[in-house]
Amino acid sequence: MNNGARGRLLLVGFGPGDHDQITPRALAAIRQSDVVIGYSTYIKLIADLLEGKQVIRKGMTEELDRASEAVEIAREGKTVALVSSGDIGIYGMAGPTFECLREMGWKPGDNPDVEVIPGITALSACASLIGAPLTHDFAAISLSDLLTPWDIIERRVEAAAAADFVIALYNPQSKRRNWQLKRTQEIVLKYRPATTPVGIVKSAYRKLQNVVVSDLARLHEHEIGMLTTVIIGNTSTQSFEGLVVTPRGYANKYDLETHETLEGQTPGLSLRPSPAADGGSDE
Ligand code: SAH
Repeated sequence: MNNGARGRLLLVGFGPGDHDQITPRALAAIRQSDVVIGYSTYIKLIADLLEGKQVIRKGMTEELDRASEAVEIAREGKTVALVSSGDIGIYGMAGPTFECLREMGWKPGDNPDVEVIPGITALSACASLIGAPLTHDFAAISLSDLLTPWDIIERRVEAAAAADFVIALYNPQSKRRNWQLKRTQEIVLKYRPATTPVGIVKSAYRKLQNVVVSDLARLHEHEIGMLTTVIIGNTSTQSFEGLVVTPRGYANKYDLETHETLEGQTPGLSLRPSPAADGGSDE
């Protein structure tokens, strides 16, 4: 039924969990909406914001259902928030929703209006709890092979490891997916020392938050599940006092103890690209 009113579909990422980490726009979007749809664990995390709203909880495997139901209700003229933790565009519902809209022949300007509202994704939330592991190039890889064939995931792990990206692993392990993380560790160990720092962050900014800093050789010894994000350092990443820090490359330019510029660099001028690896700084 469509009585002619335009509806709105708000695709909302509400951050890692704690309400202090929701953006003001995401908070306003949830407050503005008549209907809130999401995976039941996500709904629980924002339960206190949902009073007086119609709430539709879905199971983990009902992704396409969630998207098409959200679109249908919005088309009737309602404001619907489809919610996810972190950023809804990162391993979230934004993709399936646009696929669903496209199949229906929807285009921007049609009913409903669609807005994607970004959120703090797990990798930045988790990184913040262990210092500064993402200060240089990084790759995010989901180890879930439910929707992606394992050989593709393995190829990406191999490429990221070989190219010395810091690697953030989403969906690292579950009770059923219990060998993929070990395989990933083996691949990365071909390119990086056993002592490479790793951060293992569970439930960042949630009640059961747990932060561990370990090393690549011992990665498999820790309890890692579906609420964990793993961050594996690159070959320059250092750890100290429970922190993981990836240098921006300044160690190539300055003597970190004396703060003197190294050969080939002029004090006060912007850094020149070093011939070997790092390309200097734009800041
Ligand atoms: N859209 C989400 C990611 C969904 S995929 C985002 O942008 O963050 C689900 C995976 O995200 C989990 O398996 C875990 O690896 C990671 N994750 C989500 N929330 C987390 C949190 N609070 N702490 C640690 N990892 C988290």
